[in-house]
Amino acid sequence: MNRSYFFFGDYLRSKYHCRVLKLSLNTNLSCPNRDGSLGFSGCIFCSENGSASPVSSVSDDLVKQMEDGRNNFKRSDEDTRYIAYLQAFTNTFGTPEKLKKIYDAAVSSPDVIGLMIGTRPDCLSDEILELISSYKKDNFELWLEIGMQSIHDKSLQFLRRMHDSDISVKSILSASSRGIPVCVHIILGIPGESWSDMMRTAEVISSLPVNGVKIHQLHVIRRTLLEQLYADNKINILSMKEYVSIICDFIERLRPDITIHRLIADRDEKSLVAPRWGMHKGTVIKAIEDEFIRRGSYQGILVKSGF
Ligand code: SF4
Repeated sequence: MNRSYFFFGDYLRSKYHCRVLKLSLNTNLSCPNRDGSLGFSGCIFCSENGSASPVSSVSDDLVKQMEDGRNNFKRSDEDTRYIAYLQAFTNTFGTPEKLKKIYDAAVSSPDVIGLMIGTRPDCLSDEILELISSYKKDNFELWLEIGMQSIHDKSLQFLRRMHDSDISVKSILSASSRGIPVCVHIILGIPGESWSDMMRTAEVISSLPVNGVKIHQLHVIRRTLLEQLYADNKINILSMKEYVSIICDFIERLRPDITIHRLIADRDEKSLVAPRWGMHKGTVIKAIEDEFIRRGSYQGILVKSGF
């Protein structure tokens, strides 16, 4: 399929010639912004499941979680491979020995062709990056997903991330210097960010050795600090029309070789407070694709060199 952006799913299909799915696994690791090391209440958007889509298993055993996930996705008509996706909480928050056991279990099945590790930028010591880099091999999708959110410190403070943007840049450079592919997680529509602020984040990402971007709208999830701010009318949430326009502007400023892992946050009806358009993923993606066609533009069309 010809798209106006470099979709991660298209990249996987053309490389592996089969269906490749991400299986979200819960490692039960905590987060320094929740266990008291940096804070107890977490980032303002973070839900009790550590800012992840619910996993398809209640088991603590990663191999069993893989099995349950596989059964949910099973289709007999197509060869399927999986990427073990450690999304919830901070999946580098542990000793290298503990993390090695977790990563080994996550990739232990022969149909697992990748490992994607989601984490905070301030939980990536040299030792842990060395461990992650030891999983590199041919025809294997090793990805480090770093929660960058924004390049602006005022936004990171608003989100109560408890880290600054310098550490995001440093961790991207350290991972990349070891040959670890990096995907950054970005939120559009953070209160206080102007259109220019969001575009600046895209420009900085394009100037860094980033291989993938996961983008989503700021959304309000139940039982988060953000829910209270929203209930008190203290924040504005983007309309779908605004989001579609901004994300197209953003992708136009991303280098064309950066894979796009996500265009919208996925949430179930019960946990999502706002925006309600976030429940209609297919409609939003279609609107984004239509907007690119209407503009006659595509990913990277506005990339400038040397900013
Ligand atoms: S860093 Fe991630 S897991 Fe930790 S509080 Fe923030 S969103 Fe939640």
